[in-house]
Amino acid sequence: MNCIFCKIINKEVPNYTVYEDENILAFLDIFPVAKGHTVVIPKKHFETIWEMNTETFQDISAGLRAAAGRVQSKIKPDGMNIGINNGPAAGQAVPHVHWHIIPRYEGDGGGNMHSIIKNPGDQTPAELFELFNK
Ligand code: AMP
Ligand code: ZN
Repeated sequence: MNCIFCKIINKEVPNYTVYEDENILAFLDIFPVAKGHTVVIPKKHFETIWEMNTETFQDISAGLRAAAGRVQSKIKPDGMNIGINNGPAAGQAVPHVHWHIIPRYEGDGGGNMHSIIKNPGDQTPAELFELFNK
């Protein structure tokens, strides 16, 4: 498969491994947006979270926590943003699902999750709730 992250898993492409277990590989992003920016990928190829089932999520979550812990202990940031760009519309460029661990530092000038997008739509949460209430 012509997937850069599968090639990393298969050791066809080198990486700077931060943490590894049977389910995930965590490595330093080659184009870091912050010191210690790390990518966590499942060893199996899933394009987005929608190809993953609950059990797969559970298997990955322990590794994700451990990888974040490794970044925290070695790089010692003041905080972290951890998230997925799930699908092209959300900014996903590599179609192998991955979590970004983005270390944050006091005064680094970055935003939070609220700064990704300001597009609330024209329905109130109360109106939208009708969709969930059926
Ligand atoms: P996304 O936009 O969520 O798909 O993010 C993909 C991330 O993978 C980007 O931050 C890239 O810099 C990173 N990336 C792509 N190729 C590599 C690679 N060979 N080694 C490390 N990071 C990579
Ligand atoms: Zn892949």
